[in-house]
Amino acid sequence: MLRFFGRNSAFNQNQNSAFFIDGNDLVLLDCPMSSFLKIKNTGLERLSEEYCKTQGMSKSSVEKIYVLITHTHGDHVGGIGMLIFYSEFVFHIPVCIIAPSEAVRKDIEYLLDSIEGCQKDSYELDIASNINKWDLSSVMTSHVETLKNKCFGYMLNIRGTKIIYTGDTNTLAPFKDLADENTILYTESSAFNSGVHLYIDDNIELLKSLTDRGTSVYIMHLDDEEYILNKIKDSRIKTAVLFEENNDKGETKMNNAEKQLEDIFTISDLLYKDMSNGVKGDHSAIFEHITDLGRTLVNADRASFWKWDKASHTLWTTAATNSEKIVIPDDKGLVAKALSLGQVIVTNDPYNDPNFNAEVDKKTGYVTKSILTMPVDNIKGEFIGAYQVINKMDDDGKFDIERDCKKLSLVAAICGLALESDVFLEESHTDRLTRLKNRMGFFNDFESTYSKVLAENRKISLFICDIDKFKRVNDTYGHNAGDEVLRDVAGILLKNCKMGDGMYRWGGEEFIMIMVDTDINECAAKAEELRLLVEDTPSVYEGTIINHTLSFGVSSFDPAKTIEENISDADAKLYTAKETGRNKVVV
Ligand code: GH3
Ligand code: MG
Ligand code: MG
Repeated sequence: MLRFFGRNSAFNQNQNSAFFIDGNDLVLLDCPMSSFLKIKNTGLERLSEEYCKTQGMSKSSVEKIYVLITHTHGDHVGGIGMLIFYSEFVFHIPVCIIAPSEAVRKDIEYLLDSIEGCQKDSYELDIASNINKWDLSSVMTSHVETLKNKCFGYMLNIRGTKIIYTGDTNTLAPFKDLADENTILYTESSAFNSGVHLYIDDNIELLKSLTDRGTSVYIMHLDDEEYILNKIKDSRIKTAVLFEENNDKGETKMNNAEKQLEDIFTISDLLYKDMSNGVKGDHSAIFEHITDLGRTLVNADRASFWKWDKASHTLWTTAATNSEKIVIPDDKGLVAKALSLGQVIVTNDPYNDPNFNAEVDKKTGYVTKSILTMPVDNIKGEFIGAYQVINKMDDDGKFDIERDCKKLSLVAAICGLALESDVFLEESHTDRLTRLKNRMGFFNDFESTYSKVLAENRKISLFICDIDKFKRVNDTYGHNAGDEVLRDVAGILLKNCKMGDGMYRWGGEEFIMIMVDTDINECAAKAEELRLLVEDTPSVYEGTIINHTLSFGVSSFDPAKTIEENISDADAKLYTAKETGRNKVVV
């Protein structure tokens, strides 16, 4: 989202500072002299053109410049005097300097006041909290002692993407909890333990954990680029993207090809490691890497992989790079079209394509220019998902059905295999009649989740419940009516289960509920609530009302015993409930 004029420290090549363009606004994050010179040499028109190309946006003219100042070190504000002067006399557009706080605003005012040509009527100066754009807010951080309480980073929203820019900082503490899975974090990182900059050795694990959580992390202020690159080499942390200068074309092409190959190897390396470690216990990492691999192979801006849930008539993004994950109905849009036709669809003029769903663009301001959608099938030849890339970044921004599909074929095939085994795994843990998890799902969840809860000395309670006199339902109304009752009861139970709890079909007409961080009394209260609910919600089968009740046995999970012994304990209580009249909860 941001492009960098430089990503090094002031003592090493180009001072880090960045910019973005939004509508007719050019927004600079800090303005060292080197950045001013780049703007001057590039010219606003080409700056905008090049930037918009990287974002898949249509070109716009810059009509105002904003400068977000993080702090007043000379290497971060050194270019603003020149910028104001130049904007007034050459660009003929206004400049608005934004300070992160009132105290910093005063310092900037003092600074600019003494520069000839930067009198108050030649620029605007305001504080971040007064700016009603980009959800802008400043985030105080710490850097050198002399700038105590006067050093900030920024948080902003650019076309629907949350951005955090740390500026100079010696800690990630103020920023790390602000970053979620859809955030792009631009943070400084230093090879030296100076106490004033963010020392990479001390922060690499935290940065990696942020990328694991889904935050995109880009680093800047690389005072020893080689040292830092070596530190991040097996991670998803990336270096801040430079605004490419007008190099000799051949050289740029060569560098891009080399860089692309390097990117491909990095992704395949991560893929192999995640697959062989199986750390996550599912395929989410594979989808992420493979999706990103395809994007890199065809040089697209965005990529996603969609799962087709035929039962609920929806399409789910299982992985998305550079965009948000969403769920959409399966009857409109290009993914739906590609799946229903079983054909690759290339659209290089989406806004004039009736199948293109422009809702997302309308909401986020993203401009889609080209899309390639590849349906993916399973071993039986049934279409189960689709791979999609958006906005080709070269070749005039157009996808080529032959060449790009060839490049994406392996990616699509692997996504298909991974999705098929994911679906298979899920199905094997799910009961077909009630769609609750089955016994296999129960043991799987125990291994992956509940055992960890117990290991942390947290409480688990459970109940087992059984439909009363269910055989009579079958005998009286038939087996299909019995099935309907099972579906209804399971539906009621599941709907009243909160996040983190588990509801399982244990067997025939028996269900088990696992409640995490819950003591036996709370669990018994839940059982009682469900008992009343089921009693009050009869089933209707072919016009006939069928009443039903449940009996419950509740116990708390004893970690000293096996899973089976624990369930026997609850089962004994259930037996008592049955023996003493049914439709009751026994604790
Ligand atoms: P109790 O109150 O003692 O639990 O009596 P009950 O009749 O519910 O218990 P019993 O164990 O004697 O009968 C359970 C019945 O549930 C027998 C079995 O045919 C029926 N059943 C098990 N699974 C299914 C199913 O998937 N569909 C249908 N329709 N019936 C099932
Ligand atoms: Mg029963
Ligand atoms: Mg039974």
